Amino acid sequence: MSNSDCIFCSIVAGNIPCIRIFEDEVVLAFMDIGPISDGHTLVIPKAHFGRLHECSTEVLAGISNCIGRIVQAVVEAVDAEAYNILCNNGAAAGQLVEHVHFHIIPRNSGDGVFGRWPAYKYQEGQAEEIGARIREKI
Ligand code: 5GP
Ligand code: ZN
Repeated sequence: MSNSDCIFCSIVAGNIPCIRIFEDEVVLAFMDIGPISDGHTLVIPKAHFGRLHECSTEVLAGISNCIGRIVQAVVEAVDAEAYNILCNNGAAAGQLVEHVHFHIIPRNSGDGVFGRWPAYKYQEGQAEEIGARIREKI
């Protein structure tokens, strides 16, 4: 349940200090050491899971149970207009710490925290074809 090479497991165990925001049996929330906006908070399961899809349903339920309350507290505390919840999964997606975590990132208009959303259009029939491939996997 704990990984001796994992920074976040060490934080859960109290071996690396952090600024704790909230904890219950399943979840720990603490301030990110390298914030991209004031109040940037991480929500993690206390047990070690690498990526979101590897979490047990109990852990996912435990996160769902408290994340809304944590978000509301963070946003009110820093008087933010909005927030992003971000969960990077895998190195190619920007995951540096291989213990699943949700970033709570308070946002304000024009803060420039993220660049432009790089949306594009599918070619004719491409969305249907990819959608069918995904449905087959579920
Ligand atoms: P990722 O890129 O894996 O989605 O994000 C990892 C996050 O963990 C980064 O935002 C980084 O600042 C944060 N982080 C890494 N090490 C520590 C640490 O020792 N303490 C705290 N509080 N945050 C950390
Ligand atoms: Zn871990």
